[in-house]
Amino acid sequence: WKHAPAHFRALLEMSRFHGEKVFLVYEDEHLTFEEHFRRAATLANRLVEEYGVAKGDRVAVAMRNYPDWAVAFSATLAAGAIAVPLNAWWTEPELAYGVRDSGAKVLIADGERAVRLAPTGVPLIVTRGEVPAGARAFEEVLGEVVADVKLPDVELSPDDPATIFYTSGTTGSPKGALGSHRNLGQSPMTVAYGLMRATALAGKDLAAAAGTRRVTLLTVPLFHVTGCFSALTTTMFSGGGLVLMYKWDPEQALRLIERERVSAMIGVPTNAWQLMSHADFGKYDLSSLTTLGYGGAPAPPKLLERITENLPNRAPSNGYGMTETTALAIGNGGADYHARPDSIGLPAAVVDVRVVDPAGTELPHGEVGELCVRGPNVILGYWNKPEATAQTFVGGWLHTGDLAKIDDEGFVYIVDRAKDMVIRGGENVYCAEVEAALFEHPAVDDAAVIGVPHDELGEEVGAVIRVAPGTSVTTEDLRAFLADRLAKFKIPAHVWFRDGELPRNPGGKILKTHLRREILGN
Ligand code: ATP
Ligand code: MG
Repeated sequence: WKHAPAHFRALLEMSRFHGEKVFLVYEDEHLTFEEHFRRAATLANRLVEEYGVAKGDRVAVAMRNYPDWAVAFSATLAAGAIAVPLNAWWTEPELAYGVRDSGAKVLIADGERAVRLAPTGVPLIVTRGEVPAGARAFEEVLGEVVADVKLPDVELSPDDPATIFYTSGTTGSPKGALGSHRNLGQSPMTVAYGLMRATALAGKDLAAAAGTRRVTLLTVPLFHVTGCFSALTTTMFSGGGLVLMYKWDPEQALRLIERERVSAMIGVPTNAWQLMSHADFGKYDLSSLTTLGYGGAPAPPKLLERITENLPNRAPSNGYGMTETTALAIGNGGADYHARPDSIGLPAAVVDVRVVDPAGTELPHGEVGELCVRGPNVILGYWNKPEATAQTFVGGWLHTGDLAKIDDEGFVYIVDRAKDMVIRGGENVYCAEVEAALFEHPAVDDAAVIGVPHDELGEEVGAVIRVAPGTSVTTEDLRAFLADRLAKFKIPAHVWFRDGELPRNPGGKILKTHLRREILGN
C-alpha cells in the first residue's frame, strides 16, 4: 500500500475489497462497498478538479442519514480536505454559523438543507431534492462513475486534520472539534475491542456471533461522532452492513431489525428504552440482535435491568465518549456491566484516564473530581478557539467537564456533568443520581433533574417527569419512593409532570437549558 494505514484513504481503499457485499442500507436502497468506493473516489476527483479543493480545505456535509452522506464524507477525506459534518437539525442561522466558522469551500447537502444553505453563497452540491439556483446536482457533479477510478494523489500524514465535528452544544454554543487522521484511524480498533470484550464477557455464543458479519442499525445521526466513528468507519473497515434511518422511530427500528436481520444496534440510551416500551415490541422477530450499544448520555441502571428482562442473552454495553474523544473512550459490557450497572466501565484499549481536583492534581481512587482523558483518540483541539483549547487540553490531558470517580479496579463512574450539578445549601446533588433513582419507579418513562433557584438554599432540586403510558403517579408517591433510595436533601422539592417527550437534541441529551427556560423562565 502506498498510504500508511493511519490515513482515511487507506481505510477506504481497503474497504473496496469487501466488494459486492452490501455496505449501506437506506429504505430500499443498497450500496455495496465497491459502489461506495467508486462514487467516493469519483466525487473526490471532481472536488479537486472542478472545485479546486486542496489539502486542508474544508468541505461541509449537511444531510440526514442518507448513503450520500458517507460518499460525501469519504470523498472529502480522500481529497485530503477536512470534512465538516453540520448538524442537520440546525436552522438557517445555525447552519450559516457552521459554514462561516469552518470556512467551508464547498457544501454538500440534501434538498432540505440546501435551501437553508443557499444564502451563504458558498458553492453547493445538492442531493435528494430541489437544486437552488446556482447550485449543482450531486449526480451531475459525479457524472460517469467508472470501474477503474483512482483516488486523487495527495500526501497525508497521521497528524493532518481530517474532521471538524461540532459538539452537541449542551453546555454552550457548539465548538468545532478538530480531529486528525490518527484519531479517526484508531476508532475502528477501539470499537472492535470494546465489542469483543463485551460479547466475550457475555458468553461464548455471543462472542462467536460477534465474529461473524455484523449488521448494525444506527439510530442516531451520522453528523455526531458515535454515528460516524462507532458505526460508519468501523463498519467500513470490518466489512459489515450499516442500516441507516432518516430519523429515530422505534417502530421503524423494530421493523428494520427484523427485515435486515440486524445484529447490533448503536445509539443513545433512550433508543433502547423506547424500543422496549413500544406497544408492538413483542410482535417482531428480534432474534438476530446480539448487541445493543449506547452512550452519549447517562444510562440509568434500570435500563440494563429492562434489557435483561426483555432481550435476554444479549450483550448490552454502555460507552462513554465525547466529540473530543472521537467517540468511544471508556466502555462497560458483559459480566462487568451486570456487576456494575452504574459504571461506564474501563478505559478503551488505547486510553488513559484520571480524576483531578480543580487545581489539576490527581485524586486517589474513590474521590470525585473532573475526569481527564489522554490517548490517540483525543482531538488536536478546537477549531478557531485558542482560549477554549488552552483551557480544555492541558499537558496532554483532555479535561472533560464531567465529574467522575474511579474505583480500585479501575472502573469509572460518571457522577454528573460539572455544569449540571445542583448545589443545595452547600450540598452537592448530582442530577444523574437522582434521575437514575427516578427511573426505578415503574410509572417513570423519562426524567430530568434541574436546579431551581431558592433564596435561602441557593438551589433546590426539581424533577420533570414523563409518566409511562397507562400509569399514574403523584408527587407524594414519588417522594415516598425516593425516600428509600436517596438522602433527604436529594429528594426533589418540586415535581413537574408532562405528557409529551422531554426536549432532547439529536444526540439524545436532554436540553436542560430549554427545560429550565420553559419551566422556570430563566
Ligand atoms: P457541549 O460540549 O457543546 O456542551 P456535549 O458535551 O453534550 O455538548 P458531546 O461531545 O456530544 O457534546 O457529548 C459528550 C458528553 O456526553 C460527555 O462529556 C458526557 O457528559 C456525556 N456522555 C457521553 N457518554 C456518556 C455516558 N455513557 N454516560 C454518561 N454521560 C455520557
Ligand atoms: Mg462537551
